[in-house]
Order: sequence, then structure tokens, then C-alpha cells
Amino acid sequence: MISALGEGVAGLAVGDRILMNPSISCGHCEFCARGDASLCTTYQLIGETTQGTCCEKIAIPAVNAIPIPDSFSFEDAASVPLVFLTAWRMLVTRGRLRAGEDIVILGAAAGVGIAAVQIAKVVGARVIAAASTDEKLELCRELGADVLINYTKEDFGKRVRRETDKRGADVVVDYVGKDTWEKSLKCLVNGGRLLTCGATTGWDPVTDLRHVFYRQLEIIGSTMGSRNDLMIPLDLILQGRMRPVVGACYDLADLADAHRDMENRTVLGKSVIRI
Ligand code: ZN
Repeated sequence: MISALGEGVAGLAVGDRILMNPSISCGHCEFCARGDASLCTTYQLIGETTQGTCCEKIAIPAVNAIPIPDSFSFEDAASVPLVFLTAWRMLVTRGRLRAGEDIVILGAAAGVGIAAVQIAKVVGARVIAAASTDEKLELCRELGADVLINYTKEDFGKRVRRETDKRGADVVVDYVGKDTWEKSLKCLVNGGRLLTCGATTGWDPVTDLRHVFYRQLEIIGSTMGSRNDLMIPLDLILQGRMRPVVGACYDLADLADAHRDMENRTVLGKSVIRI
């Protein structure tokens, strides 16, 4: 995988095993100073706005290299940063999820969803997981989800109201976007929070503002996160309280297969490329 260069920098030595924090920010603006790196105006994601990581060697800032123990496989380590960082910031740092709350997670078997289900359980929330197949829901159940909804077979909004005795959920995680947005708003309890970190099915849904102001709903956006948003869930993973889910591993020579499988949505969990 990645070798850390720069002996002595950030406590690293040549040959150390590391995982990579994919966030790059300036490190000294008001946002970086208070630990909100993903609000930095220079914020970048390695592989999105920079050259990617499907290569044999890569140069990254030493601060982005996070040492991992020998017992932690590179495959598991590689599958952690993006989704656990994103989900931790969205649910905990931004979303203020608390023990005892009801949280609905749409797309619960997708990368961020898999992390979100586990984080919500660690926090002590009741997890209502929604996904498109029974196989995906079985994975959600294994990860601790309390209620399973196949939203191709039943209306998730109605089911959430039933599961919460018509009260509604405290929090809904919706990065599906246009297809589910209106229902997500409607199945919140008064004063509830709608969390979003993406818009897979469309970024321009209808938002009935009467629900937002009259029912005092919060719509909270979140993207990526700070070093702490990664270090805390990583620590919980190393303690065995959460786990990465690797769905498939490919050699670099089979990169095209990896992309094809991802586009066909045949992989359950993260796809990892071995270098
Ligand atoms: Zn900054």
C-alpha cells in the first residue's frame, strides 16, 4: 500500500504501516484551527481534486499518515477512512445524535450507511435501517440495526411512523436525495434533524418549507470531516466495537473489473484495490 516517507516527521519511520486520512486543508485558518477542516476554503479530498491513489507510490502530507497496528490488515484499514470519517461527522459532530434517539438510515448498506448503522449503535440510538434488497438488510441486521425496511417493498415513511407510534424519528440520514427527500422530512418528529452528505438520485428535490418552519425541523449538511472525525471511529474499530466491511478485493491489474462491479452495484461493502 502506501509507504510513509519523511522519517521523524509526525512520528513516522520508513516502513511503518499506515492508513491515509484523505483530507487536505490549510491547517491554520479559523476553521482548521477549531477542528473543522472540511469547512476550510482550501479543503481537498485526495483522489477527488488531486491525483488518485490507484498507483504504486504516492506522496501525501506526513500528517495524513496515521499509523496502524500490525494486527489491522491493509484491506480493512483502507476501507475505513472515507466512510467512517463522513458518517462520524454527519451523525455525531454535526447531527448531535444521542442515546435513546430513533434514527432512520436510508441506503443503510451502502458505504456510509454501513458506518452510520454501527456508529448509531455505539452512540446508543435505535437504528431503523432502510435498503433496497433483503440481502443488504441482512448485513444491516448483522451490524446491529434494530428495524429493517425494504423500501422497494413497503413505504418507508409509513413504516417509520408505525415503528415510532406515529411520533416520527428524531433523525433521518438521507444521502439518497430527490427520490426520498420529501418522505424523509415528513417522517421526522417535530424538531427533528435531517442529515445529508450526498444526493445520489438528484440534488433538486421539493422541500415543503411549511414542514421546516412550522415543525421546526433542522436540515443539516455534512461533508467529509476533521482528523478527530476519523481518529475517534478508528479507535472504536481497533477496540472491536465497530468493523469495516470489505465486500471485494481486486489486484491493481483488475481495476476495470472493480469499477464494473461497483457500477453494477454487485458488491456489498467496500471494494479494495491491492497494490
Ligand atoms: Zn483551513
